[in-house]
Amino acid sequence: TATYDVVIIGGGAGGISVAASLLNRQSDLTIAIIEPAEDHFYQPGWTMVGGGIFTQESTRKPMADVVPKKATWHQTTAKSINPDTESVVLTSGQTLGYRRLIVAPGLVVDWSAISGLEETLGHNGVTSNYRYDLAPYTWSLVKSLTQGKALFTQPPMPIKCAGAPQKAMYLACDHWRKQGNLGQIETTFCNAGEVLFGVKDYVPALQKYIEHYGIETAYKNRLTAVDGAAKVAQFEVAGENGSQTVERPFDMLHVVPPQKAPVLIAESGLANSGGWLDLNASTLQHERYPNIFGLGDASGTTNAKTAAAVRKQAPVVAQNVLASLHEQPLSAAYYGYGSCPLTVERGKIVLAEFGYNGQLQPTFPKWVNDGTHPTRAAWLLKAKALPWIYWRLMLRGKEWLS
Ligand code: FAD
Repeated sequence: TATYDVVIIGGGAGGISVAASLLNRQSDLTIAIIEPAEDHFYQPGWTMVGGGIFTQESTRKPMADVVPKKATWHQTTAKSINPDTESVVLTSGQTLGYRRLIVAPGLVVDWSAISGLEETLGHNGVTSNYRYDLAPYTWSLVKSLTQGKALFTQPPMPIKCAGAPQKAMYLACDHWRKQGNLGQIETTFCNAGEVLFGVKDYVPALQKYIEHYGIETAYKNRLTAVDGAAKVAQFEVAGENGSQTVERPFDMLHVVPPQKAPVLIAESGLANSGGWLDLNASTLQHERYPNIFGLGDASGTTNAKTAAAVRKQAPVVAQNVLASLHEQPLSAAYYGYGSCPLTVERGKIVLAEFGYNGQLQPTFPKWVNDGTHPTRAAWLLKAKALPWIYWRLMLRGKEWLS
């Protein structure tokens, strides 16, 4: 068994950022990153691919290019974690020992939870920006639709980037408006939840766009099945006297499926009651195993699951892991920051930035984040600056605007 100072599960936004941040702080650490994927994806860019703004390729880089040179990449999955022997068993058969473990495997998008969906995705007008290969199909559907019915669905929370289901919709409506087709397209937002957005300060600005585009909202509507050939989607609609099944025909259907924690977490005894990683909300240290830390979408902390949250979590985890290795008190704290750039039209964004309990936490100047109003500067941030910041600063462990 090879033993490392730090073993990191996952080479996504969280795993790579924290590895780089650790090595920037102490370059002689031995770090192993367990990650099966050949490529690393900039998932926040997929909304822009679906809106015809970014190319698909611009959201992908070879994993080998983002893994820090001083870290050892094990290209396989973590099969089980044994907190008592301080080791991780890999699917390749190898076992890695750790002094500190960082768990960052992201979340599981549960495509199979919607009956008939997997068979029809990418065909029959059924798409999702939640997959790299499908985001371009969203744009091709948006471009070709000139009349008919468009459905955009949102599953129960939690999901990664809670605003992404409606971002896809606003960008589509904006295109139809500019083409003069908006009046011929009936758009419905079918949301399993009861509110437009979870942080209430942002709802009025978003509601204005719902009205501007003439979108019908259907709350408590949970997508349960899709019949691609018949172009009909089935919803469970919660009402006062129980739920009923409602069928809606469509010409275009943008689906965001339910999302769940990787089973590895619960199977290894590291989960909270919901299956997510049981972390201290402030230090990001595991509640029961002090030499385990975590960040990113797999965490049970109540922040918005976003890469923006990772931007604030990675330096906190890096500092606390180092303090813990050196037997110092954990002094770095995370306040639940997350952000969601809501693309309400091509060229304008409502930049939602908030912490635990929906407290607004703006980190950009007022001309970018004007409270709850859309700005052109926030669009430029998303379209031009953030991808660069992600690849060049965040994944290299460099802090900015903190
Ligand atoms: P990921 O980046 O998903 O990485 C997890 C990694 O772990 C993967 O590479 C996976 O292969 C690996 N892994 C999984 N299981 C194992 C295992 N057992 N062993 C080893 N490795 C494993 N965020 C924003 O901030 N702003 C946005 O505008 C935004 N928009 C989004 C739009 C869309 C359509 C999507 C899908 C996401 C969006 N996000 C946005 C969310 C953001 O992408 C995620 O919050 C972020 O990537 C989380 O990082 P992570 O490291 O936890 O997970």
